[in-house]
Amino acid sequence: MRRSLPLILVTFLLLFLILAGFLSARVSPASTSTLQVAATIFPVADLIAHVGGDLVAVHSILEPGSSPHTFDLTPQKAIQLTHVTAIFGVGQGLDLWTEGVSRLSGAPIISLDKNVPLLCGQAPPVIQSQDEHEEDLTFCDPHYWLSVPNAMLMVDQLVTELSLLDPVHADTYRSNANTYLTELTQLNEDIHTIADSITDRDIVTFHESFTYFAKEYGLTIRATVEPSPGREPSPQQLVDLQKTINVYNVRTLYKEPQLSDSVLQAFTKDLNISIQTLDPLGGIPGRDSYSQLMLFNAHTFAQTP
Ligand SMILES: [Zn+2]
Repeated sequence: MRRSLPLILVTFLLLFLILAGFLSARVSPASTSTLQVAATIFPVADLIAHVGGDLVAVHSILEPGSSPHTFDLTPQKAIQLTHVTAIFGVGQGLDLWTEGVSRLSGAPIISLDKNVPLLCGQAPPVIQSQDEHEEDLTFCDPHYWLSVPNAMLMVDQLVTELSLLDPVHADTYRSNANTYLTELTQLNEDIHTIADSITDRDIVTFHESFTYFAKEYGLTIRATVEPSPGREPSPQQLVDLQKTINVYNVRTLYKEPQLSDSVLQAFTKDLNISIQTLDPLGGIPGRDSYSQLMLFNAHTFAQTP
């Protein structure tokens, strides 16, 4: 008996460590009454935080600095999210990796594009070449959150979705949303005011991320440095880019924190072109709310502090 006591203690200790390890690997719910949801990108998470308030705990899947275009969901990350009730995303092919989380958790994927007027057209050439059926290849630009009126439509859809998941608190979600919509209305006016001062309205962005922003605030995207985000442009694409820059006298190019800018650095090496930062995703200090993110980008375009 005496000899088995240390064995029992060691067994208990091992069981405790395994249990503690298991619990710490999961994102522990703040409260059992809190609705646990996941969001694919930071802007979506921030909209949910405003509409959900204290009633909703939102877990961002994409970490700051990562691009949804090049993101790979690890099994560990998917396991951390098995407790969520719903996964909110962008849809339109941007965050297909949510399917891994959905399979493990059984939570539905809810894309916030139901009310938004999407900009659709023919698929970019690279996407076409990967598909054998080239007749029906409409492609809708998924970066719709980068226009405040679209974010307001996303907020309206969120009220509906959260109220379906948690009907008891439907009035609170509507009330939180109304407060936030007032803030977003003001934000949109502020960004229009900033955008009015932009002198160079022919823009070349890093990837096709600011089309909705451009449409709302009166800019024209003439070209992108990386037509397929995360993939280096071909020599022919760089030749075309150079032509566009010359035609429109473009003097600024933009890098993005989530994608490598080595192509940009090489391309602008001997050119008198300045490189600024645009951020479609945020979630870092100075851009840790949707409003701050939008103001940051507006000021970047306007070259105001
Ligand atoms: Zn993008």
